Amino acid sequence: MTKTLTHFIGGKHVEGTSGRFSDVYWPMTGEVAARCPLASKTELATAVANAKAAQPAWAATNPQRRARVMMKFVELINRDMDKLADVLAREHGKVLLDAKGDIQRGLEVAEFACGIPHLLKGEYTDGAGPAIDIFSMRQPLGVVAGITPFNFPAMIPLWKLAPAIACGNAFILKPSERDPSVPLMLAELMMEAGLPAGILNVVNGDKESVDAILDHEDIMAVGFVGSTDIAAYVYARAASTGKRVQCFGGAKNHMIVMPDADMELAANALIGAGYGSAGERCMAISVAVPVGDKAADALLAKLIPKIEALKIGPSTSLDADMGPLVTKAHLEKVKSYVEIGLQEGATLKVDGRSFKMQGYENGFYMGGCLFDHVTPEMRIYKEEIFGPVLAVVRAKDYAEALRLPSEHAYGNGVAIFTRDGDAARDFASKVNVGMVGINVPIPVPLAYHTFGGWKKSGFGDLNQHGPDSIRFYTKTKTVTTRWPSGIKEGAEYVIPTMK
Ligand code: NAD
Repeated sequence: MTKTLTHFIGGKHVEGTSGRFSDVYWPMTGEVAARCPLASKTELATAVANAKAAQPAWAATNPQRRARVMMKFVELINRDMDKLADVLAREHGKVLLDAKGDIQRGLEVAEFACGIPHLLKGEYTDGAGPAIDIFSMRQPLGVVAGITPFNFPAMIPLWKLAPAIACGNAFILKPSERDPSVPLMLAELMMEAGLPAGILNVVNGDKESVDAILDHEDIMAVGFVGSTDIAAYVYARAASTGKRVQCFGGAKNHMIVMPDADMELAANALIGAGYGSAGERCMAISVAVPVGDKAADALLAKLIPKIEALKIGPSTSLDADMGPLVTKAHLEKVKSYVEIGLQEGATLKVDGRSFKMQGYENGFYMGGCLFDHVTPEMRIYKEEIFGPVLAVVRAKDYAEALRLPSEHAYGNGVAIFTRDGDAARDFASKVNVGMVGINVPIPVPLAYHTFGGWKKSGFGDLNQHGPDSIRFYTKTKTVTTRWPSGIKEGAEYVIPTMK
């Protein structure tokens, strides 16, 4: 019988009461593995009420103690790594080792949050004026929420909940309804780590619960990650109710391959970054830009046999390079883009559309695809496909290669492969994109730096994780003190200055 999942509210699993459910698949077999409850506005309100009641005591718990809960949480995730990765791989479709990477990159942000006593320290100026000292403190916002996508069901929830909770907030997580099991398991681990009930709540759902979050007056901040149209919608609606908002959207990440690059290194980087996780990463490389026809031909000669030799397998496989896509609908959408590319006149060098996985005929698989001679006017260049489809756009020179990602509507990540330090330095400085890799194909910064794209890839002014996450989940209070110790002055009617 199909399992029915729950919400996690007030420290325990709670059955859905809306009567609405969506199917959760195992993409590797195509079977429906569970039903996900879709919360109503009332269920969301119950979670917020629990969070609001629990938050003041958590905020009053000293940061060292909050850090200890986070340390224990890190330990428990490591203990349960295999179990979490197995569930994650089955629901998402990515292969087991990659599922562990998903958890690990989230775990690293929880490790970062263990430093919360230090991270929350404010600033102090001694003797800012006569008998005047100024100091600042960072205080939690209250109840905050995170709305997350299907493609990193552990990493992105952890990027949000770990710093938010360490800062002293209570958190409402609305994970993707396509793979909600790992977020529920993370909530259980948080309880085991000693988090008070009500500080982390997982509310499963779709647009109805998202809208309820955006409109709820007791939610002070919303962090969103997902596709650009929804990111723009969430940003506008949440901001209109006065919330602090950061929204991260889609991507079209380019990798520039200069003529002097090590072509074997570049081809291997493209294979991993283009086809790993079946291209369902916001930092996947979906556009390769070799500079000059000679570099393009050399790159393609290395790339084509590697794409044809990609090892595709079920998510539980230990040696497959990539697994299936997340749903049948998404698989059909990705395949339809290949058809669009053909109609637009691009050259399909590798066509993986007819791939079938033996023994898993109902799974959502396709092979890698590669287009050559893609141009900036084509939809397959302009739009995010989010699948194992790589487009090659040939640039005639470095200036054109710099212009392509800079002028693209998306601006998440970009990479340049070269042995020329001058070119690399110029590129990093001038390219109009938020995260840059130099001979690094997926430049996801580590937990203690910040992550965020530009243009249509990010709305709001603070990034995820690193120091920005502490700024996002706290408000700064600045206190100016004066201890006159006997100085007697009359009233001042002019604004005090340091003149
Ligand atoms: P999505 O936009 O479909 O869903 C994201 C979240 O929004 C989910 O929780 C979903 O339930 C909710 N949602 C969906 N439709 C909604 C609607 N109409 N109104 C309100 N809420 C709605 O995204 P996805 O398919 O789950 O994830 C893939 C997308 O996320 C890709 O575009 C990818 O590039 C992007 N992404 C971006 C980053 C980043 O940091 N920039 C990271 C990971 C993924």
